Amino acid sequence: MEYMPEFSVVRPATVAEAVAMRAADPEARFVAGGTDLVPNIRRGIVAPAKVIDLNGLEEIRKIESVDGGLRIGAAVTLAELIEDGRLRADYTGIVEAAGAVAATSHRQVGTVGGNLCLDTRCLFYNQSEWWRRSNDYCLKSRGDVCHVAPKGDHCFAAFSGDLAPALMVLGAAAEIASPSGGRIIPLTGMYQDDGLAYLLLGADEMLVAVRVPAPADGFKTGYAKSRVRGAIDFPLAGVAVGLRRDADAVVDLSVALTGTNSMPLMIEGTDALTGAPPDDAMLARLDGLVRDRIQPMSSTFSPPGYRRRVVAKLTRSLIRRLYREG
Ligand SMILES: Cc1cc2nc3c(=O)[nH]c(=O)nc-3n(C[C@H](O)[C@H](O)[C@H](O)COP(=O)(O)OP(=O)(O)OC[C@H]3O[C@@H](n4cnc5c(N)ncnc54)[C@H](O)[C@@H]3O)c2cc1C
Ligand code: SF4
Repeated sequence: MEYMPEFSVVRPATVAEAVAMRAADPEARFVAGGTDLVPNIRRGIVAPAKVIDLNGLEEIRKIESVDGGLRIGAAVTLAELIEDGRLRADYTGIVEAAGAVAATSHRQVGTVGGNLCLDTRCLFYNQSEWWRRSNDYCLKSRGDVCHVAPKGDHCFAAFSGDLAPALMVLGAAAEIASPSGGRIIPLTGMYQDDGLAYLLLGADEMLVAVRVPAPADGFKTGYAKSRVRGAIDFPLAGVAVGLRRDADAVVDLSVALTGTNSMPLMIEGTDALTGAPPDDAMLARLDGLVRDRIQPMSSTFSPPGYRRRVVAKLTRSLIRRLYREG
């Protein structure tokens, strides 16, 4: 890590002020807990002249019950999510995902918004300035070549936030503010599979909250991940599952993944697998749906083949667990 460079910090008191500040200076960066942005600044990966601190925005620091579901402010910390009684009772997958992020100290300050807007990660990118310079940098920052796929012009850095898939299986929506107003979109619509431009937020837009509908009666959710260091690490692959069981049959099934692509992925086609128990035939068909969507690349220490196998294993065991609990 390098020494912290000079930059100015501004502290808006309202969301309207925050987005106006960003609109006036699109190179400025929002900061919430800073557990992703600050290491990236200290590695010289980003060098904003101005940082907009979101911690004074009381309006996005709360979890509210709305329309039978929850509205979770972007500046709510992961520790607050884990401790919330409503989440612990009805949104187990979110609590499990938040509890699997980094370590206790990161979760005290790391926020929902920061987790959902987390920069994509790669072995050749999350390195010190001198390391990246001695490798001629790369496409994602200051270089011309992707070291993972040198013949192409695409960045395959992986989206590695744990929360997004756990929210997606519940049908969460993202509430976005800008100086010209606001919009609410499905959370899945906030991302695209491009390591450089992974977020579909405009330069003057800010994530304000996520809205999570009430789960249907009996709809259970869970999250599982694989990581190198169990006590503190990004997912090599992470899986969220939402499942409802009626007698012996799975009657609702949603699966979403992180760590395998440059965006969190909702697996399509799971409806066709319902109506039967999660036997080997059903799980093999699900493996096929997952295999068709994921694209792990050599962007981590663990090879793509390993991450492919691990996704299948995590998904199968999580489905079996939720089915047993159902
Ligand atoms: C050692 C270590 C291990 C980690 N392990 C994990 C892990 O296992 N899983 C995981 O998911 N994360 C992990 N992280 C990353 C991080 O701690 C969490 O993702 C955390 O939730 C990020 O939130 P933050 O508030 O600190 O983000 P910040 O660093 O404040 O922001 C992250 C990014 O989001 C943008 N941003 C923040 N809020 C908003 C908003 N409201 N609207 C628009 N943009 C916004 C910022 O500009 C920045 O680009 C790890 C970090 C470290 C240092
Ligand atoms: S995938 Fe390629 S361009 Fe993207 S960060 Fe890694 S090396 Fe750089």
